[in-house]
Amino acid sequence: MQPCNECQSSGRGYGGRKVAVVGSGPGGLTVAGDLIRKGHDVTVYEAFHKPGGVLVYGIPEFRLPKEIVAAEVNFLERLGVKVECNVVVGSAITVDELMEQEGFDAVYLGVGAGLPRFVGVPGENLIGVYSANEYLTRANLMKAYLFPEYDTPLVGGEHVCVFGGGNVAMDSLRTAMRMGCDDVKCVYRRSSEELPARAEEIHHAKDEGIQFYLLHTPIRFIGDDEDRLKAVELQEMELGEPDESGRRSPVPIEGSVKTLECDLAIIAIGSGANPLITSTTPGLEINQWGYIVADEDGKTKKPGVWAGGDIVTGAATVIEAAGAGRLAADSIHQFLSWGW
Ligand SMILES: Cc1cc2nc3c(=O)[nH]c(=O)nc-3n(C[C@H](O)[C@H](O)[C@H](O)COP(=O)(O)OP(=O)(O)OC[C@H]3O[C@@H](n4cnc5c(N)ncnc54)[C@H](O)[C@@H]3O)c2cc1C
Repeated sequence: MQPCNECQSSGRGYGGRKVAVVGSGPGGLTVAGDLIRKGHDVTVYEAFHKPGGVLVYGIPEFRLPKEIVAAEVNFLERLGVKVECNVVVGSAITVDELMEQEGFDAVYLGVGAGLPRFVGVPGENLIGVYSANEYLTRANLMKAYLFPEYDTPLVGGEHVCVFGGGNVAMDSLRTAMRMGCDDVKCVYRRSSEELPARAEEIHHAKDEGIQFYLLHTPIRFIGDDEDRLKAVELQEMELGEPDESGRRSPVPIEGSVKTLECDLAIIAIGSGANPLITSTTPGLEINQWGYIVADEDGKTKKPGVWAGGDIVTGAATVIEAAGAGRLAADSIHQFLSWGW
């Protein structure tokens, strides 16, 4: 390990220290890149078999070619970053064990917000109902489109409904189209005015032939006698008064229920914090939604532990996660040089 350049030039004669980065999304990779350049010994732990976070398992190939992410990771590895895949921190090893047994001086938590939310209606456990997270992971990372050459299956679906109107819903809709289905509907409980996805994503989706089924919400998924999804019951909605988000809230129209043929349903109504790390790491503070509390430099309430990206802010953007990683890397370097 080479001494840190900045420390060398400051005459402190300080050598690199050991940093563990948990999660290899844009936040974790930024921290790893910044700290290896400052002379530290950096290991990235990733639960999946490939590094990149949402950049590889969520955002589809047609929007972000995976070879770009692979080249970035490869570059970091050539700088000396060690990437350990298939390690679920909080299960295989805890944060405290990383520090006490493996000798890491600092830990950065960049584990994202990948816990899917469900609607909570009957039939959501039928074969053919996926969270967007699972659907996109199977399609992108596990290469389900090459089944049986790759061993991850995915229900193809002849009649696909994606529930939700955000960017993740748009990615799911457009992926379903590319998986070979030509009846793909976006079912959203408000009107087109309130669709949260970016205008260009909605434009692309419409351009590709996706139908928008607005002002409807699922109230029941219906299966056949082998528990395979065959239909969905939808409640028609109208817009009422604005809610706390400022958007007009959807209100059910009494007696207006219809059934749609549907053999693949994808639930894209948001995601939250996975409690695995927070429940196995004493000393971390979490907020009411389960996200880790950290200051603007990513410092958590637990000495030696930083956090940033979606696990702190909730689902946000690549650039925000990378920005948080940059601030945290500076703060970690300060800590490794001067103390907490
Ligand atoms: C489908 C989709 C499309 C999106 N499109 C865009 C877009 O176009 N533009 C944009 O700016 N943003 C987009 N976003 C949001 C953006 O991808 C995220 O805000 C960003 O990736 C968050 O980065 P992160 O580093 O915090 O975490 P993530 O990218 O979520 O990475 C976290 C990593 O940590 C790993 N991990 C989790 N728990 C553990 C554990 N216990 N042990 C080890 N590893 C663990 C995960 O497997 C994952 O690889 C999109 C998100 C989704 C889901």
